[in-house]
Amino acid sequence: METIISKISHTIKDDEIIHTAGDIIKSGGLVAFPTETVYGLGGDALNPDSSRKIYAAKGRPSDNPLIIHICKLEDIYRIVSDFPEKAKKLAREFWPGPLTMVLPKSDKVPKETTGGLNTVAVRMPVDPIALSFIEAAGGYVAAPSANLSGRPSPTSAKYVEEDMDGRIDMIIDDGDVEIGLESTIVDMTCEIPMLLRPGMITAEMLKEVLGDLETDKTILAGNIAGRPKAPGMKYKHYAPKGELTIIAGKPEEVIKRINELAKTGMQQGEKVGIIGTDENISFYYGDSIKSVGKHDDEVSIAKRLYRILREFDDENVTLIYSESFSTGGMGQAIMNRLLKAAGHQILYV
Ligand code: AMP
Ligand code: MG
Repeated sequence: METIISKISHTIKDDEIIHTAGDIIKSGGLVAFPTETVYGLGGDALNPDSSRKIYAAKGRPSDNPLIIHICKLEDIYRIVSDFPEKAKKLAREFWPGPLTMVLPKSDKVPKETTGGLNTVAVRMPVDPIALSFIEAAGGYVAAPSANLSGRPSPTSAKYVEEDMDGRIDMIIDDGDVEIGLESTIVDMTCEIPMLLRPGMITAEMLKEVLGDLETDKTILAGNIAGRPKAPGMKYKHYAPKGELTIIAGKPEEVIKRINELAKTGMQQGEKVGIIGTDENISFYYGDSIKSVGKHDDEVSIAKRLYRILREFDDENVTLIYSESFSTGGMGQAIMNRLLKAAGHQILYV
């Protein structure tokens, strides 16, 4: 299949692109589109064939449910069987925005879209291109991240093209995304709402609105027995091609250990990548050294993390050593993704 790639110009010309994209979804095709979090791979959420095609294009197991994206709050009533007061409160506070809520599904939503579950994940993004695309597509766009299964989520259209060219009908190219990590997911079907995936909307922000919030214990832990509640969390996700290890401890010790490991690796013929921060970056020795941002600026780190992992892939880096980050605020989301990418390999020094 030939993939149409259409660049957004922020002029009237965009209307035509959005219109074409909407028609593709309505006729059962797939379109990758920008959101504020990462690029999504969209299909008609109410059409089971579209959802099947999404799984096929990503190479994703079909028990891993999709998020339904809406553009108007009132549209939610068609896809959920209950919209409890607590969920309405969160919607008022954080929609449109990077928050996904899990709610009981209505019978309009096919099981193919929810991976066989009786619940459905719903989000209203804030990105204006995403919103007009969802509207043109009929209001209900099922979308996981637009990467091949197991690769870092795409934060720029060029990475979508890398993974999806020839596999989907169209890519709407609006350059780089704003946030760079996937949405926060909270399960509103539990007695006490449960955080399933951390994101830019932090646990603290949710607690302020909800009062009580539980956190899925598998978010930062590696080998806890039991099934993560978001089915997607059980797969090894966000994995770079190189083997990634996180080094945690005092900055001087971390730098020392990373340099020792890098030296040994290079002597053994490995190509070594290092993920550091602005404060420490000049102290490292390795084949490819990248700063992910300022150590205490979580927003900048979130924005660059996936890009760096993909750049290491492009450079055929075989071993990656990364500094560790704090787990407060949005740091919880950053460490959750980094730990997954590392298959939970972390060295304390
Ligand atoms: P992605 O679009 O790649 O960010 O993946 C969507 C994420 O949402 C996956 O981790 C899913 O497991 C999660 N998800 C979607 N629907 C549900 C649901 N009904 N219950 C729990 N988690 C869900
Ligand atoms: Mg994903």
